[in-house]
Amino acid sequence: MVTIKIDGTDYQAQEGKRLLLVLEENGIRIPHVCFHHALTPAAACKLCVVEIREQDKPPVTRLSCSLKVREGLEVITESAMIQQMRSNAIGNLLKMAPRSDVIHQIGEEFGLTTGVKPDGCIRCRLCVRVCKDIIHASALKMMKIRGMNYVMPSEKGSCIGCGTCANICPTNAIRVEDKGNVRSIMIRDEIIGRHALEICDLCGTRFATTKFLEHVGELESEHPDARKSGQMCPSCAKLAARKAQRPLTPHLHMTYGGKPVK
Ligand code: SF4
Repeated sequence: MVTIKIDGTDYQAQEGKRLLLVLEENGIRIPHVCFHHALTPAAACKLCVVEIREQDKPPVTRLSCSLKVREGLEVITESAMIQQMRSNAIGNLLKMAPRSDVIHQIGEEFGLTTGVKPDGCIRCRLCVRVCKDIIHASALKMMKIRGMNYVMPSEKGSCIGCGTCANICPTNAIRVEDKGNVRSIMIRDEIIGRHALEICDLCGTRFATTKFLEHVGELESEHPDARKSGQMCPSCAKLAARKAQRPLTPHLHMTYGGKPVK
């Protein structure tokens, strides 16, 4: 047995044993993903880096999976330099496996910089802006979670299920799902809004949510899509508008089902 110092405390360890195993045996958590007890270390992930200090020498960093313990070894497991190196290492791993929950969880547990977990959203905020400025629903907002911005449902407004956010999203991160007579607006598999769909009085297709039609009626009671004028899908409303020779309001009329109306 040899005596080694870890973060200022003396420990007894078997000479020649891998430092990572000694650290784990003594309850000191070190991030790592490529080490396996039954295999020779590959030193691939670089997460298990620690600092080694020797008298009269500047500190050096070593990978604890491949370093064998010897008498008098002095180890530091946490420092600014170590944190930086582990953040670099996790950044490299995430370039190869950006959706890996394991890597993101390790980053979170050890306070490493992992960046945004890809969710298809490029943070352009087009959905937030169109919902507020054009639809006047303010159903979406940007929210910071652990230092990263995410599109989230807003408490201020409520979704009316118009689908304009999905229509304007350049990466299809927001989706409209119509099933039976229910429309769901989804982001990251979370439901932003779920609404009943209305049937067109003329052709019988399910075309817009009840809430959307009510919203149009409140904003513009003379609009041909307003409830008091009847419930018509975009094609029938267009025909009706032509007949009545009334121009449609373009910004409201582009919103049905997340698809622009021709
Ligand atoms: S579907 Fe909901 S969140 Fe999207 S623009 Fe319409 S009201 Fe806003």
